Amino acid sequence: MKPSHLDALADVIRVTDSGAIPERAALRAILDAPEDLDAPLFEAAGRALDRSSGRAVYLRGIVEFCNACRKDCLYCGVRRGNTRVARYAIPFDEIVEALEEGYRVGLRSFLLQSGEALGDAHLALVERVLRWMKARWGDSVRPVLSIGELPRETFRQLREAGGGRYLLRIETSDPELYARLHPQDAHHRFEARVQALHDLRDTGWQVGTGVLIGVPWQTPDHLAGDLLFMRRFDIDMCGMGPYIEHHDTPLWEAREQVPDVATRVRWTLRMIALQRLLLPDTNVSATTALQTIHPQGLELGLGAGANVFMPNLTPWKYRESYDLYEGKVRVADSLDSVLERMSARCAALGRPVALGDPGDPVRFRTRQPPP
Ligand code: SAM
Repeated sequence: MKPSHLDALADVIRVTDSGAIPERAALRAILDAPEDLDAPLFEAAGRALDRSSGRAVYLRGIVEFCNACRKDCLYCGVRRGNTRVARYAIPFDEIVEALEEGYRVGLRSFLLQSGEALGDAHLALVERVLRWMKARWGDSVRPVLSIGELPRETFRQLREAGGGRYLLRIETSDPELYARLHPQDAHHRFEARVQALHDLRDTGWQVGTGVLIGVPWQTPDHLAGDLLFMRRFDIDMCGMGPYIEHHDTPLWEAREQVPDVATRVRWTLRMIALQRLLLPDTNVSATTALQTIHPQGLELGLGAGANVFMPNLTPWKYRESYDLYEGKVRVADSLDSVLERMSARCAALGRPVALGDPGDPVRFRTRQPPP
């Protein structure tokens, strides 16, 4: 008789092939299964990727332009309460210089990421960069923002200034687990985070979300719920990666509750593969956290169904202050040689890197009403 986790996989493949939503129990069984599940799961995810988005790998250059944050998320190294981190905001000219360098090597999608620093000057800077990108490169480039929860009106304003894609991780879709990972105050309301995702959709953004994987107290059942949350929201992009401890955060106290590295890697890869099955035509990244926790994180992520990774364009002198978690990969080489190496690693997997292409998720393109 076939082991039950292989039955669960066959079931999920059949259900997702028909476009339907699988049972939470089947997803949980897959996340919790022994190792023999991985090869057939990743093959199925690879087939889903081939059929929907193709084998190309898209690049998104990231500029971590400010690490000030009004939030105090218990897991994050740049949380407001961490007084050991040197705070910075990169001036406009340096941001633009980093973007120009990315454009020169063929990047056409740029992620501007920061802490949640709601001040007027911060938002004015973002708007100015968006307008500059639009004037400079028009439609050939896709700006992506990841700057936290904002009022709906601000989302609209930034969209009008040229923003196209927005990444806002829900972090976990379970309200109780969310409450254990965040302070209990008005700045950290689960409902507000969900509302922000709806506001982004309503104001015309391509919407990306994702979760932390392997946080204390998290179970495969929580992760199964996260997959269903993303499927039901019908996201365009997904970035999810392993939780990595940081000793200057309150969650450090709960480090005994963190699954070992092998479990975090396994769960992350299975989450990527299942996300690919549930929403085949979305963009899914092999995150920096996955590449930090495992030296072959890029290969493993792409092998499980990811199709995006994010070369870092943040000027060197700021990088060590964007210290979200311990050991975050920092490569001192020139952008050209980083790209050359990463492209060779992708090519070795039969996955060509798509330079000169903003790589819109097929899902977003097909959802758009005809002009
Ligand atoms: N402030 C924005 C927001 O709230 O979406 C974006 C910046 S935030 C630093 C980017 C992401 O870093 C978060 O969504 C979180 O999932 C991730 N992150 C923070 N601390 C982490 C940790 N210890 N391990 C792994 N990822 C972490």
